[in-house]
Parts: sequence; C-alpha cells; structure tokens
Amino acid sequence: ADVLAVSARSAPLGSRLVLLLVEDLTEARRIEAVRRDFVANVSHELKTPAGALSLLSEAVLDAAEDPEAVTRFAGRMQNEATRLTNLIQELIDLSRVQDNDMLAGAEMVPVEDLVVEAMDRCRQQAAFKHITIASGGTDDLSVWGNRAQLAAALGNLVENAVNYSPPHTRVAISGSRVPVQGGDIVEIAVTDQGIGIPEMDRERVFERFYRVDPARSRATGGTGLGLAIVKHVAASHGGEVQVWSAEGQGSTFTLRLPEPGSARERHLAARSKR
Ligand code: ADP
Repeated sequence: ADVLAVSARSAPLGSRLVLLLVEDLTEARRIEAVRRDFVANVSHELKTPAGALSLLSEAVLDAAEDPEAVTRFAGRMQNEATRLTNLIQELIDLSRVQDNDMLAGAEMVPVEDLVVEAMDRCRQQAAFKHITIASGGTDDLSVWGNRAQLAAALGNLVENAVNYSPPHTRVAISGSRVPVQGGDIVEIAVTDQGIGIPEMDRERVFERFYRVDPARSRATGGTGLGLAIVKHVAASHGGEVQVWSAEGQGSTFTLRLPEPGSARERHLAARSKR
C-alpha cells in the first residue's frame, strides 16, 4: 500500500517532468532550426555578391579591348564588393550585440551626438534623393550605454528612413522624455514619409534577413540585418524598439531607452560593472 501511495503521489510530478522535458526538446529544436536557417541565409547572402564578383571579373578580362565596358563592369564590381563588406560588417555587429549581454564600455551619451552621427552617415544618400533630415527635442537628453552600439542603432533607423522614402520627402528625428514608473524613458523617434510597411510584415521586420521586398532592399544596399541589430541594441540597453506605419504614407520607429538615473538604468549599470 505504501508503494502505491508513493507512486500515486509521484505520478503527477513525473508527468510534469516529462512535460518539461518535451517542452525543452521542442525549444531546443526550435533554436536549432533558427540557427540552421540563419547559416543558410548567411551562406546565400554571401554567395550572391561573391558569385557576381567572379562573373564580373571574367567579364572585365573578356572586355579588355573595350574601355567603356571595363569601366561599367568595374563600377558593378565596386557595388558588389561594398555589399559584401556591409554584410560582413553587419554580421560582426550583430554577433557582438547578441553575445554581449552585459554592456561593454558603457558611458553617458548625449542623444544629440547620436543624432549628428546618424545624420552624417546618411548625408550623401539623403542629398542625392533631396530628402531633408531634421531633428528636434534632443538637447539635454542623454542615455547611458555603449556609444558605438547606440550610434549604429539610430544610424540604421535613419538610414532605413532615407532608403525607403521617395525623393523630396522629409525625415524627422525627435527626442522626448516620457515619464513612467521607476524613472523616465528617453524616446527617440524617426519618422519618414516613405513607402510604409504592410501590417502583416510589421512584427517580422526585426527578424534577421526578413525584408518586405528583398529586391528593393538589395538595390538600396540593404543586408536585412539592420533592424535585428537595432532590436538587440535596444534590449541590451534595457529598452525596446517599436514601429508604427501606414502603407504608402510612412513609418515611425521609436527607440525607447531608460533615462540615466532611473531605477532600470541603475540596475543595468550595476550589471555592467559585475
Ligand atoms: P535592410 O537592410 O533590408 O534595410 P532592415 O533589417 O534594416 O534590413 O529592415 C528590414 C526590412 O524592413 C527592410 O528590407 C524593409 O522592407 C523594411 N523597412 C525597414 N525600415 C523601413 C522604413 N523606414 N520604411 C519602410 N520599410 C522599412
């Protein structure tokens, strides 16, 4: 009778353990599938420009007698090489922010510095498309974190705003302080008057290599990794990134970060010193 009583008591525990084990296995399989997808995507994305470079170099050799053709092919080779370099750089950035749960080299960073860097990064492309980038409300705002990562995050948002907007439109970067429980949140919003993002894609644009229109993204030099980087940077800083969009009218991406001195930020600061 004793044995029966024990087994009756342990049965629910046993089945709960089995359930946990099954859940664990499902999660492990999901992670493995994500990893496999990622490797397949990276290989594909690297092979495309590498293959194009190889074909173009053959074309240059064949066209040695035709200087005009050589110039044309060389220009295309330059584009493919740039694409390859961008992709490798973004893969490095992504693995850095993913592995780095703790913030390395965190400091006080004025939001204005991030805005200036982001604008510098897009100046040429914006001028080419006659897109005006304006900023406001960022004076006196600071965030606490890794300067290079934060600059990369805002840079990516502004770059996308320019890339996915028609000529003669405006991009606005605005900063504000939003009061919440446990301290303020610093909000940096990037608004464009671009093509917008269909509702069904809105959640997914933060996934690695997810693009609404792969051909368009490639044409603008996109790697499909930009928003994944932004999301990781926001998360490792105790913040988040959100998107609002209306198709054909434009999008707003908001980067929300804890204000230095807030409870959330103090928690992060303590973690980074560990
Ligand atoms: P990409 O290098 O392709 O720009 P991202 O990760 O930065 O990669 O963005 C993923 C996709 O989200 C883009 O390919 C594009 O389809 C969409 N997207 C991002 N930002 C915008 C924007 N401001 N307006 C419209 N679509 C956008």
